[in-house]
Amino acid sequence: MRLYQIITYGCQMNDRDSEILAGLLEKRGFRAASGGEQANLILLNTCCVRKSAEDKLFGKLHELRLVKQQNPEIKIAVGGCVPQLPSQAAQIAKRFPHVDLIFGTFNSHQLDKLLDRLDASQQVCEVWESAGPVQEELPSKRKTGIRAQVSIIAGCDNFCSYCAVPMVRGRERSRHPDRIQEEIREAASQGFREVLLLGQNVNSYGKDLGNASFAKLLRQIDRIEAIDRIRFMTSHPRDLSMETIETIREGQRICEHIHLPLQSGSNRILEIMNRKYSQMDYLRLIDNIRKVLPEASLTTDIIVGFPGEENSDFQETLKTLKIIGFDAAFTFMYSPRPGTLAARMKDTVSMQEKKSRLQELMKVQAEIGLHLNQRLVEREVEVLVEGPSKSNPNRLMGRTRTNKIVIFDAAPSLIGKTLKVQIVKANSWSLYGAI
Ligand code: SAH
Ligand code: SF4
Repeated sequence: MRLYQIITYGCQMNDRDSEILAGLLEKRGFRAASGGEQANLILLNTCCVRKSAEDKLFGKLHELRLVKQQNPEIKIAVGGCVPQLPSQAAQIAKRFPHVDLIFGTFNSHQLDKLLDRLDASQQVCEVWESAGPVQEELPSKRKTGIRAQVSIIAGCDNFCSYCAVPMVRGRERSRHPDRIQEEIREAASQGFREVLLLGQNVNSYGKDLGNASFAKLLRQIDRIEAIDRIRFMTSHPRDLSMETIETIREGQRICEHIHLPLQSGSNRILEIMNRKYSQMDYLRLIDNIRKVLPEASLTTDIIVGFPGEENSDFQETLKTLKIIGFDAAFTFMYSPRPGTLAARMKDTVSMQEKKSRLQELMKVQAEIGLHLNQRLVEREVEVLVEGPSKSNPNRLMGRTRTNKIVIFDAAPSLIGKTLKVQIVKANSWSLYGAI
């Protein structure tokens, strides 16, 4: 039996792609290597959203050089977003001759064929220039757990000026609603309790299909009784419709949590980022969400140090963050990505300044998160139990509908069940409770 190991970098979309790559490998007779076993095939599914993710990959490839020297039979494959970038695949092939197979996002469904060719030649490097239609009927091996990730739309048409995603994921392509619902029913029959619907901009779902929309899809999925909860990400502030917000309220299973990247609070920076909304538009949208869904949690992404960001722009971001009070914010230092519009602008903010802005942002957000979480102390929340807590495997971890992590003592037999938990303690990132 041949063994594989897949190492995934980046977002949930890559995570889902890795499940499909695993499915393709298992169909070919491979089995996942477990702790201590040396895999015959090591596959790196890569991320190019920031330079730091690429650096991690290159570090790993240097490390694998030694592994390959000691054991020349091992095959090393690099797939996904990094090779999909213009000229990157050829560079990887040259810089890392110990890599046996290089492929991109657009031909990853062809893994089987690529591996056939690998048996016959030294190094295989194939990247397609454009994406075909979404591939259905691919096998997949889901990660264990209670949450199944389901991709509903591939690609992105937004071209935010800093972002490499549209280059490596192609234009928006929605999956047929029937296929999505079939996949969810199947996941439910395998024991998954929750689905996470994935897309770079889920609100664009259906625009390329006619007679389909994200709100409509949510209503269809909400009727699937075999699952308990529906989550989705990511929403683009310009495209999140009132209809969708109302659908969340009306839905039984649709969780009251919206991940809505703000990126910056400064109108000037938002404009250069090509986000197509202003601070005021965003604040209005938040008002509308809160009118319809007063209990909903809101999370966001922020970039600091975008080209031309002055301290006054950063202050606008801080101000917006404080006005809104996000439950959590994922904060990033701007990283120029070759081939994007922003990469042609002068990277004016020094690394030191980027770091200090990031730190201030994180500090402000930690206080906001703590304050919001402390409001839940003594309240009873509905928790879907996910499994052992990472920090203490003797305790269990679950999430509220609003996606807050709750840690508590209970029997492992309760994994997959929905419980009422009373919150006794809170920090900025988690809640602690008792059933
Ligand atoms: N489609 C999603 C996810 C995009 S990538 C969205 O629109 O939000 C996830 C996050 O990475 C982005 O929201 C953004 O905050 C960050 N990001 C993207 N490109 C970046 C870059 N060049 N430098 C720093 N952060 C970046
Ligand atoms: Fe990138 Fe913008 Fe598309 Fe998100 S919406 S993937 S940030 S281009």
